[in-house]
Amino acid sequence: MNFLARLLRFLFWLLVVSWGVALLRRAVGWLLRGAAPRAGANGGGGEVARRLQRDPLCGTHVSEEIAFPLREGGNTLYFCSEKCRQEYASSQRYAANG
Ligand SMILES: [Zn+2]
Repeated sequence: MNFLARLLRFLFWLLVVSWGVALLRRAVGWLLRGAAPRAGANGGGGEVARRLQRDPLCGTHVSEEIAFPLREGGNTLYFCSEKCRQEYASSQRYAANG
């Protein structure tokens, strides 16, 4: 029975290690994919989906998908938060009036 217990323990660790390796490979793949767009080696705009926009009020870079947009004079500005957008809009209004 001692042999069976050792075998079961061996199989358990085999499972744990293979799971860990799979997790590590996924993490490495994710890191490599995250670092890739900066190089842009194989040219041709393929990475339009994840474009970063700069918040003109506080300077934070924010993705278009999660940003708070504000249309102004034909082009769209992107803000990191509702607070930044409102603050910017009110400051523009004061500038226009005064
Ligand atoms: Zn902001």
